[in-house]
Amino acid sequence: MPRAKRAADVPTDRLDEMLVRLKLSGIRDQLDNLLDEAARSNLSTRETLMMLCEREIARKDHRRIDMALKLAHFPAVKELAGFDFEAQPSIDPKQIRDLAASRWIANGENVLLLGPPGVGKTHLAIALGREAIMAGYSVQFTTAMALVAGLAKAHAEKRLDEKLLALSKAKLLIVDELGYLPLEPDAAHHFFQLVSRRYETGAMLITSNRSVAEWGTVFADPVVATAILDRLLHHSHVLTIRGDSYRLRAKRRSGLIKAPPAANGAPVGSPPSTKPPAIINRHHEPEGGGRSS
Ligand code: ADP
Ligand code: MG
Repeated sequence: MPRAKRAADVPTDRLDEMLVRLKLSGIRDQLDNLLDEAARSNLSTRETLMMLCEREIARKDHRRIDMALKLAHFPAVKELAGFDFEAQPSIDPKQIRDLAASRWIANGENVLLLGPPGVGKTHLAIALGREAIMAGYSVQFTTAMALVAGLAKAHAEKRLDEKLLALSKAKLLIVDELGYLPLEPDAAHHFFQLVSRRYETGAMLITSNRSVAEWGTVFADPVVATAILDRLLHHSHVLTIRGDSYRLRAKRRSGLIKAPPAANGAPVGSPPSTKPPAIINRHHEPEGGGRSS
């Protein structure tokens, strides 16, 4: 069998040029090492080509994920692997694993994570966002306050449309901490426009310490709140998390602070009501259930 030509026999510049043109920078940067590796392992031409393609793809994936994680602006690194499901029995691990497969994002559905402070809403939101990025989707993370402030600023500068368009780009938009502070009526309208724009095309994940029944108060306008919920809940997965703050668990265990009083409709921090308002009954799914339509 004739021996393959050595790398040195091939004009390197020309090969470099072609690899650049084909955007195979991983192969180009590592070509000599990769070919040495192939020779050491006695790979056939086909096997060598396969190995080169695998390395190029691995490098592209790595870079894409790195870049997407930067663009997502997650406030912290949180992963599903670091979530202690035993500490949070109100969450069905199977449902979270199902959501982690990111099919809901492909379908432009929404996830609402509801529950009092410290129960892991933000942790799960970031972790699901990371899974979405691994699956190839673009993700943008923001807090509700930063979001409405950005929309108000854009409105004042007469570029609300541009801003709404920018917020519609990512396949998944995560809005954290809706409801910690009531929103201005203008903010509610801007939020409505955003939800309408993304409706059925881009997925949203929203975390809130308020039950959907309380969103009328959050948005300072029950009519707009209903319109927002109507769209959000149409194709949605609503997860209501109960229980005590994970942050305070260790302190409580060591006796540093007392157990919280039983929740009875207190404002911030009370576990959300499980009773959805009448308007959303047709969309609202049984707790822990899958897609509602
Ligand atoms: P929330 O957004 O509901 O207020 P966070 O997600 O910010 O709560 O959780 C508070 C802290 O506790 C975070 O550091 C988070 O990683 C951690 N945490 C919450 N629940 C869990 C859990 N079940 N397993 C591991 N860490 C948790
Ligand atoms: Mg949070």
